Amino acid sequence: MRPESLFPYFAAITNLPGIGPRIGKYIEKLAGPHIIDLLWHLPREITDRQYCPKIIDAEIGRIATLNVKIIKHHPSNGRKRPYRISCGDDTGEITLIFFRGDKKWFLNQLPEGETRIISGRLDSYNDIKQMAHPDYILPPDQIGEMPKIEAVYQLMAGVTPKTLYKAICSSLKHVKQLPEWQDSDYVKQQKWQSWHLALLSTHNPQNILDISSDNPARQRLAFDELLANQLALAIMRQQVKKQSGIIIDGDGKLRQKILNSLPFELTKCQIRSLDEIYQDMKQPSRMLRLLQGDVGSGKTIVALLAMLNAIECGGQAALMAPTEILAKQHFKTIAPLANIIGINIGLLTGRDKGKARDKILTDLANGKISILIGTHALFQADVKFKSLTLAIIDEQHKFGVHQRLALAKKGNGIDMLVMTATPIPRTLMMSAYGDLDDSRLLEKPAGRKEIETIVINNNRLDEVVNAVERKIAQGAKIYWVCPLVEESDILDLAAAEARFLQLSKHFGKDKVALVHGRMKAKEKDDAMSSFSDGNVNLLVSTTVIEVGVDVPAATVMVIEHAERFGLAQLHQLRGRIGRGAAQSTCILLRSEKLSDTARARLKILSQSNDGFLIAEKDLELRGAGEVLGTRQSGLPNMRLADFAIHGHLIKAAADDAKLILLKDPKLTSERGQALRILLYLFERDSAIANLQSG
Ligand code: ADP
Ligand code: MG
Repeated sequence: MRPESLFPYFAAITNLPGIGPRIGKYIEKLAGPHIIDLLWHLPREITDRQYCPKIIDAEIGRIATLNVKIIKHHPSNGRKRPYRISCGDDTGEITLIFFRGDKKWFLNQLPEGETRIISGRLDSYNDIKQMAHPDYILPPDQIGEMPKIEAVYQLMAGVTPKTLYKAICSSLKHVKQLPEWQDSDYVKQQKWQSWHLALLSTHNPQNILDISSDNPARQRLAFDELLANQLALAIMRQQVKKQSGIIIDGDGKLRQKILNSLPFELTKCQIRSLDEIYQDMKQPSRMLRLLQGDVGSGKTIVALLAMLNAIECGGQAALMAPTEILAKQHFKTIAPLANIIGINIGLLTGRDKGKARDKILTDLANGKISILIGTHALFQADVKFKSLTLAIIDEQHKFGVHQRLALAKKGNGIDMLVMTATPIPRTLMMSAYGDLDDSRLLEKPAGRKEIETIVINNNRLDEVVNAVERKIAQGAKIYWVCPLVEESDILDLAAAEARFLQLSKHFGKDKVALVHGRMKAKEKDDAMSSFSDGNVNLLVSTTVIEVGVDVPAATVMVIEHAERFGLAQLHQLRGRIGRGAAQSTCILLRSEKLSDTARARLKILSQSNDGFLIAEKDLELRGAGEVLGTRQSGLPNMRLADFAIHGHLIKAAADDAKLILLKDPKLTSERGQALRILLYLFERDSAIANLQSG
């Protein structure tokens, strides 16, 4: 249960003076439902009201605070004319302009002949200085009510800056000192204030430096959030480690046979990753390991060998992929190898129905099938294994946490290997998974050539088509990827279809095929195989070819409106080519107008083929939210920490969390109690529930 000291922070925002249900709704959308959410809504800018010039010197465009005498009111003389009030000091005149408001209020606030302090942005009209709707109008003796420096917050329709500012000021009144949950030596060493002072000072910036994310107060708040997150993850991990797993340590016979039959040697990275995986599998605790490797780095064979280890011990293994195309491809790759060693494998996708499906399920339940490959269909309720001991999830970021868990439940304390071709920067990985074990395939199998990547202005499309024509004449296989229009596959589709029509007119119908996500699986298969094995040289597609598709003969890829894709996604797409020994080329078509960031991003891609580096750069340039792209990235939603800026704090938070639990696994010490408050403050209540039950 949430401690009483936190009740005020979790009161509804509508408890604040002046926030009714109507405005409350808007603020809730903007920040969240509770007072704490408003406190987490940190200022983005400041308004400095310390510029107090004489009217004659006042610079147009600046925020100024003026001491003026009210000269005369000029009520509006037409519906669209503003109410004007002329004012002046001993150097000149200025007109105050109001497009709304009533006369009584104006006369009351700005009585003719009196002096007022006004503050707002200056502009001019017909050479006369004016100020529209001053932010502050105060009698000189009340000047103290106006902040010299004002925090400026991100807004949304329905909430005025003033309302929000007031709401935040009143929520700040609830901020009280809480017991220090951080290690006091660390706080001292970082020269940080206590939590409540850091929060107060963040909302009361004194200069522009105070709102930068690397300001000490902000760092402290970010670290609090990161520690809460890491501690919650570590508690969860502590729980998982307590569950007993299965010891998997096969005799290696099946594996040796496969290795003998492969036409290649494993790379050093593959060997090392397998060592790490076998080590984990051997343990009585459960394995949860991430295998990261760029497209084409050879994850599939690693997965297969791990599965064979499980099978050597009499268990079954499951390999789950996010799409049917991918699942099939894995099946196609693995089937001939399984044949060599005489084990049965099965394929189960959403498309399998009736008798065929029943047969697979029966064979699975009686253990005839050793490896089941499939899509989301694998965790349907009636899919029952005889003894599942290892589950592998490919392209894990396409699955939600719950889906991973659902698969894990198909066995008892099974080992899990998740694989991704979207390298995750370390900092992000730590935030999403805590201290997850990971293996990396850093090098490509021998004999691969680097892909050459060029960025070309969209207005040179004709030249690109000509170049493609020359390549087709030489027999090349070419991908043509159509732009992401929006988060809408219907619009994506329209663009792809239009391009398909145009290109098939140009190159001839039998040379060009189209695939997109809305096609029936059979049509998709036909298009894909006409490209991989048939006469088709040019495959026009939406991003459905993004993950895993393997046509080694393909050597050219054209990507339209490359700037609309994420870096990691472009890199993924590009990984469809360069899979054989031939030199491959990727052409990134960009729109004529590009932001500096977009330009920088495309440049990175043309300079590097290293997925890990690209992922780190993407994080720097775009921020965390977009790097993994999807809601299902598993990344926690951070309010105060910015992964791109506070990345260095994540490691410290993770280390600290580990140490804390080592010394005080139930969080009962004095600091442990304070840390519980921290967890509640950041709404990691379930972690505390885990502590109690554990
Ligand atoms: P990923 O799934 O990581 O994108 P794949 O497992 O599909 O990559 O491997 C890509 C290609 O490289 C496959 O054709 C595979 O047979 C081949 N391959 C895998 N490991 C090696 C290796 N050590 N040497 C040469 N080729 C390899
Ligand atoms: Mg793969």
